Amino acid sequence: MSNKNRFAFFGGKIVPIEEAKVSVMTASFNYGTGIFEGIRAFWSEKEKELFVFRLKEHMDRFLRNSRFLQIHLPYSSDELCDRTLELLRREEYKRDAYIRPVAYKSSTVIGVRLHDLEGACTIFAIPFGEYIDKPDGARLKVSSWRRVDDNAIPARFKIVGAYVNSALAKSEAHREGYDDALMLASDGSLSEGSAANFMLVREGVLITPPVTDSILEGITRRTILEMAAREGIPAVERSVDRSELCVADEAFLCGTGVNVVPVTGVDGYPLGEGKPGAITTRLGKLYRRAVRGEVGEYRRYCTPVYGSA
Ligand code: PMP
Repeated sequence: MSNKNRFAFFGGKIVPIEEAKVSVMTASFNYGTGIFEGIRAFWSEKEKELFVFRLKEHMDRFLRNSRFLQIHLPYSSDELCDRTLELLRREEYKRDAYIRPVAYKSSTVIGVRLHDLEGACTIFAIPFGEYIDKPDGARLKVSSWRRVDDNAIPARFKIVGAYVNSALAKSEAHREGYDDALMLASDGSLSEGSAANFMLVREGVLITPPVTDSILEGITRRTILEMAAREGIPAVERSVDRSELCVADEAFLCGTGVNVVPVTGVDGYPLGEGKPGAITTRLGKLYRRAVRGEVGEYRRYCTPVYGSA
């Protein structure tokens, strides 16, 4: 990708991307002590507008998670939202984009710790299409790697170093010919995908693991649960047994990166009828319209970059 017209929010201002550099001695680079976010912006051809989906919720989570790692950023959530919009305008995005804020321990010292270190943050954006391009259904592998435990590295905080766990699972799945991994929590209950939450459907009921089963508390997950409630689809948050994969009617992954991707097979066996289910398809279509500002109830979640109402 060419760096022409590319910028980053770095050192408190928007600078050309080449200037957004950190030292090899940076504490976060050495120890994984950082927090990141993933946010999507969707181009509406109809309105000639770029909408950032649930920007404020992402920035609130980013600041909350950063505080957990004792990174105290000198910005409010609203300021980070404004900088993000400014960045997208500077880059003149007129296509779907993915926005990556990162908060990190910026001190250049050796010694693993959280205290007595400087913190900093950066935001950059890239053009982005599908993360898992499987509209007809992804095939997952139940990973041999367990999801990071809340008493080891809490999954809920989106900690940079914790994604080694996701990377191990994703590459194992890829190596064996699958599209993604499904991870079990340390007690063996079903947790989530390598970079997305997991939902299944049994007899018309949407089921997803609770936030206490070593998952990232996904914003898309929350959106889908809200959509299910509005659509009259019963939904429960409860622990899910691995063997329920064999009796589920449908399943899908959901997250900022993946949007909604149907899951049609696990470990080489078909899930349900081996094709995207009715509830998955309905929620997936609704979600994809909502993020582009096309659905009234969810329009409040779409922040226009160029200023349409
Ligand atoms: N779980 C993991 C491990 C993730 O990395 C992500 C992506 N951020 C999600 C779930 C989905 O979260 P969200 O809907 O907030 O993007």
